[in-house]
Amino acid sequence: TAANMSRFVSRLLVVVSHHATARAVVSPRRIPLFIRPVSTSQGLQSLTRYDETTDWQKKLTPEQYVVTREKGTEVPFSGIYLNHYEVGMYHCVCCEAPLFSSEAKYDSGTGWPAFKEAHGTWERDESHASVIRRPDNSLGSAGTEVLCKNCDSHLGHVFDDGPDPTGQRFCINSVALTFKPRENNKPEKPEEN
Ligand SMILES: [Zn+2]
Repeated sequence: TAANMSRFVSRLLVVVSHHATARAVVSPRRIPLFIRPVSTSQGLQSLTRYDETTDWQKKLTPEQYVVTREKGTEVPFSGIYLNHYEVGMYHCVCCEAPLFSSEAKYDSGTGWPAFKEAHGTWERDESHASVIRRPDNSLGSAGTEVLCKNCDSHLGHVFDDGPDPTGQRFCINSVALTFKPRENNKPEKPEEN
């Protein structure tokens, strides 16, 4: 069926994207993986919690469902947020948790939106960010998956070949995100976390 083919293509692209970034995996600048508990972050408590009874297939488009709930990958250079540089916040398409600020966005040249850090990161402390990292060995090589801390949505992967000062490259699917422009378009004040 078309759905199965779409899923196959998505899986294939995961493999391709991993090969394209293979050198990141062996980089000596790799920082330790941070596995964070889900429930300790302030500010997430007001968001609705989702569980296994949530009907994601009803809530999401088929493309959003395959990427966020089945760990698919959108076709490179196809995403609506790849060349998108409005000022604002990129939220989780599933639960609307704020994930990445436009200030952290940059052009990585890989075909997916890239961010140098997650919103709420303080230096390298991601305990107040809305993302979690999880080792991904599904392809036989060490990778790090990025998920929404609030609803467990698959967002993409993170690599350590990003720009200074973080050295991080969050490679995120456009379809996992929804953008909200900042009111007044004013630069964001530094936030205390
Ligand atoms: Zn979410």
